[in-house]
Amino acid sequence: MVTGTTSFDLILRQARIAGGDAAPVDIGIRGGRIAAVAPNIAATAPEERLDGRLVVPGFVETHIHLDKACILDRCRTEGTLAEAIAEVAAAKRGFTEADVYARASGVLEKAILQGTTRIRTHVEIDPRIGLRSFGALQRLKRDYAWAVDLELCVFPQEGLTNDPGTEELLVEACAAGADVIGGCPYTDTDPNEQIARIFAIARRFDLDIDFHLDFDLDPARMDLDEVCRQAEAQKWGGRVAVGHVTKLSSLPAEALAAKARRLADAGVAVTVLPSTDLFLMGRGHDHDVPRGVTPAHKLLAHGVTCSLSTNNVMNPFTPFGDCSLIRMANLYANIAQAGRPAELADCLDMVTRLPAKLMNLDDYGIAVGNPADLVVLDCRDPAMAVAELAQPLFGLKRGRRSFTRRSPMLHRP
Ligand SMILES: [Zn+2]
Repeated sequence: MVTGTTSFDLILRQARIAGGDAAPVDIGIRGGRIAAVAPNIAATAPEERLDGRLVVPGFVETHIHLDKACILDRCRTEGTLAEAIAEVAAAKRGFTEADVYARASGVLEKAILQGTTRIRTHVEIDPRIGLRSFGALQRLKRDYAWAVDLELCVFPQEGLTNDPGTEELLVEACAAGADVIGGCPYTDTDPNEQIARIFAIARRFDLDIDFHLDFDLDPARMDLDEVCRQAEAQKWGGRVAVGHVTKLSSLPAEALAAKARRLADAGVAVTVLPSTDLFLMGRGHDHDVPRGVTPAHKLLAHGVTCSLSTNNVMNPFTPFGDCSLIRMANLYANIAQAGRPAELADCLDMVTRLPAKLMNLDDYGIAVGNPADLVVLDCRDPAMAVAELAQPLFGLKRGRRSFTRRSPMLHRP
């Protein structure tokens, strides 16, 4: 029971919570944290009336490349993965810390305005770029902490064992405060050796791991098997994620179910990147082009932790992007033919609760004691949020208002 003697800095009145009861509740905020979640909190404080609108603890982006965003004016974009890697590799040589900061901050501000409160960004490290992007994003992390918690995942986009000097730089970045270690075995001449070395770095610095993995449509050989094997051997289950894994989209139902059980048993989570996967996969087909997007909602049924994420914004990997995770959830639902209310609600889960689980964020969620990271969506139901691309109206980060978007308005004659 919350009584009038309790004081709050702010009360959100009549909020609906995804996964909670259908009946609206009030959310009381004090000292930047959620202090009460109850119907009709009897206290006087500044308040916002939400009229039953849906509140989420902010969207969670597990996989976005801020360092190489917004470089279309420097690159060709015909649409193959090999071209995208080569074009960015060439452009990257010209990146300065100021340039990376300027482009990344523009993208980060978009993400904040779209209601995202937690982000894992993947940062390229190799002897050409050195630690320039990493340095820019470390600064960005500090400068935007008022609106978003930013994790830096350092990784070797152009390979590790084939690129002398890269491993030393990755270790240097980890020693300098990188939050997560990433990998990219598909560009390495020795994928298994890269996987082993990434696990070794993770153990040395006690870091979670996030691989770019199995990024084509040939399921004959999958690095996923070695990643699962290592996750079990190193007892790193629950601390390993893999992104893309588009090979899974080529598997028949039974084989997919077997891989899903393997992932769940090994504690390996999956991030699907619908926009990039759609743009780059199936380029060899001139008709009946495969979607190339792994059916994440089918993996959920086997207990795999899955997220949907943005990946790239306005570069040769993805010449689109507005950083809206509600749009990504809707795009995924379209591609995956996920239309039942429960499936649509799962799609919202894959841009909120499940990516927070993937990132092992233990203070995420609308519960007493957690930081008051709260985003109000212009809808009343999780499935409808995805179906109708409900827009965020305003958001709080640790109790402080971090952005506002005005509702569109008709001006009748
Ligand atoms: Zn990526």
